[in-house]
Amino acid sequence: MSPYFYVVPVFFVLIALEFLVARRRGVRLYGLQDTVTSINAGMVSQFVNVLGGAVSVVMYAWLVERFGLFVWDESNLAVWVVGLVSYDFCYYWVHRAGHEVNVLWAAHVIHHSSEDFNLATALRQSATGFYFRWVFYVPLAVLGFSTKMFVVLGLIDLLYQYWVHTQLIGRLGVLERFLVTPSNHRVHHGQNDYCIDRNYGGIFSVWDKLFGTYADERPEEKVVYGVRKPLRSWDPVWGNLHHYFVIGRLVRAAPTLREKLGHIFGPPRGALHLSSIGERPFRAEEFTPFTTPAPRFMNVIGIFSTLLGAALLMTLYVITPELSYWQRLAYSALMLAFFSAVGALWMHPRILGAARR
Ligand SMILES: [Zn+2]
Ligand SMILES: [Zn+2]
Repeated sequence: MSPYFYVVPVFFVLIALEFLVARRRGVRLYGLQDTVTSINAGMVSQFVNVLGGAVSVVMYAWLVERFGLFVWDESNLAVWVVGLVSYDFCYYWVHRAGHEVNVLWAAHVIHHSSEDFNLATALRQSATGFYFRWVFYVPLAVLGFSTKMFVVLGLIDLLYQYWVHTQLIGRLGVLERFLVTPSNHRVHHGQNDYCIDRNYGGIFSVWDKLFGTYADERPEEKVVYGVRKPLRSWDPVWGNLHHYFVIGRLVRAAPTLREKLGHIFGPPRGALHLSSIGERPFRAEEFTPFTTPAPRFMNVIGIFSTLLGAALLMTLYVITPELSYWQRLAYSALMLAFFSAVGALWMHPRILGAARR
């Protein structure tokens, strides 16, 4: 059984808790469309993972078999600690590449496309990152950490990152020195000048400090969440794909091979003509968040899509072993179409018209 079968309900309970605590404190942290899109995007990545998640594991298993230098005693806790630190080091580079290489940013941008910042944002995970991530874990495989350790450490690293997506926890004193915390992860999700390309760590912030990519949260400057080139859509499938289309258009239009390659492997800020970052100071007060008017019945459909999606995802976790690859593919494809349709419906001219009446 997938460990997510047990984790997903905990995610939902914590989101509800954060929502209630925020409401009691009189802070608005959750927009309905944004939240539904975030959770549905999380489920999109899970539905794709049922098919593609194995790529990483298969590739890693091959690497460790072929190139692994050492055998580690997995009954020793210290081995797991060394493993976790090593994994997190590799994660830092996966994440950094996801921000600094345009085609990899296309996979990661979905995580940053929310203009809210809450526990639901944490669930906006990439559905297309599986094809390249394993490459960054080659050092781990060469060190000989087993495939089982790779999977468990990956889960620990990912689950740790859930709780840092909150605005309800302030700075955490001495922990800020070496751990990824809500405070320094808020900076990572910011689009203010000082936040761009900062704080890539998964569990430990020491890598950022070591490689010069760390920034502390500035209490005097309100963090504006999201990206400079906003998604402007509630469709989680489009959220996963849209930047590949941007790159495709840029590559087609580029006159030379050098420029074409630059659009694929160069930094996103160049490709998006955002090289002006820093030239003119970013002003939080000039930012307009993305919203679309929605009639009440559409919001009900949105919430229903998330609840139904969650029930069908839990079902898939249970029945996966009994399904053939093609059955899984059909199941996931239908779910992706469903989430995409709900997201697109919010933007349909008739729905927008009904909301304005
Ligand atoms: Zn990121
Ligand atoms: Zn994040």
